Amino acid sequence: MTAPVPRRPHPRRLARRFLAALLAATVIAACAGAASRPLPYPLRVMGTYANLQIVAADTAAAGRAARAAHRALQRVDSLMSNWTTTSEVARLNRVAARETALVQPEVADVLQAALEVSGESGGAFDITVEPLVRAWGFIGGTPHVPDSATVRRAFENVGVRHVRFDPATRRLHFAREGVRVDLGGIAKGYGVDAARRALEAHGVRDALIDLSGNMYALGRPADARAWRIGIRDPRDRSPYFARLELSGGAIATSGKYEQFVAAGGRTYGHILDPRTGVPAEGLISVTVLAPDAMTADAWGTALFVLGPEQARRAARARPDLDAVLIAPGARIDTVYVERTLRGRFALEAGARARFHVVWF
Ligand code: ADP
Ligand code: MG
Repeated sequence: MTAPVPRRPHPRRLARRFLAALLAATVIAACAGAASRPLPYPLRVMGTYANLQIVAADTAAAGRAARAAHRALQRVDSLMSNWTTTSEVARLNRVAARETALVQPEVADVLQAALEVSGESGGAFDITVEPLVRAWGFIGGTPHVPDSATVRRAFENVGVRHVRFDPATRRLHFAREGVRVDLGGIAKGYGVDAARRALEAHGVRDALIDLSGNMYALGRPADARAWRIGIRDPRDRSPYFARLELSGGAIATSGKYEQFVAAGGRTYGHILDPRTGVPAEGLISVTVLAPDAMTADAWGTALFVLGPEQARRAARARPDLDAVLIAPGARIDTVYVERTLRGRFALEAGARARFHVVWF
């Protein structure tokens, strides 16, 4: 998760809704007195918490913009949710093996982008992981370690080769019964982009949209040249271990701390390696900066699966992506920071003893 800086330290077990409220309160306090301060709009949407901060002199106009952004997020939720039976994606999962289904335009955009990232990441990002995500209980159950027969069965239906999608006609067909798609690794980013478009359509120039670690920074706060974003400490020893400056771009953080199963002295995260059927190992946190939030979200998940070496290679190969990767160590964790972030990335003073920074 990424969070706006400054943010007050908080007890680890504090419920997330209190956290959202605290976040909002801190922002007001930090900016009190500024001519046009960012007004916070905490929302509950897409199965999680969101916070909009809108810099505006006109409170009523900012409120209208925030409501439009909220509606945009709700629409994306109703189309792409992976845990309701009523979403467009749930409908497609029910029918697309039996018939060639016509897909709503927004879902078509996300499907096309997801399939592209699949190809470009060598299959690390794969929306057909749904049966595996379900087998591990991250969708439709309680997270648990499944037996190997269950994983094997789920695995048979995983792979983008089973998906036929034509963006021109928006027609989708699954080549076999049992194939299902999960947009959980990309839809929040798309939602943030939709919220950004709604704010811009209402004339908002400076705002920060935060949907549980998927963010877009429009313009800047009134009192600084850029938004300051805190990157969450993956081991939760402090609210954030580093900060990044962001203006006119997106950032997404994927970590092992939000959803995981602990079993046999190990933790298994909710990002699965579609090539092995097992939760991805090697990194505990990935932050990606990209021109739009959908790209940042999908590549955050992809780099997490690729692991430290391949993720560094993939990030370096793409000029539109900047990455911060954390690999766990016994005593000290390694933070790989892409050189393109020099001057914008700073480790917090208290984090120097716990993180070793390697520029790549
Ligand atoms: P979060 O949305 O929890 O912040 P991510 O953006 O990394 O984190 O998305 C994780 C979600 O993506 C999982 O809960 C699951 O629904 C889906 N997912 C898991 N593994 C993959 C994968 N290899 N490729 C695409 N989606 C995945
Ligand atoms: Mg993602």
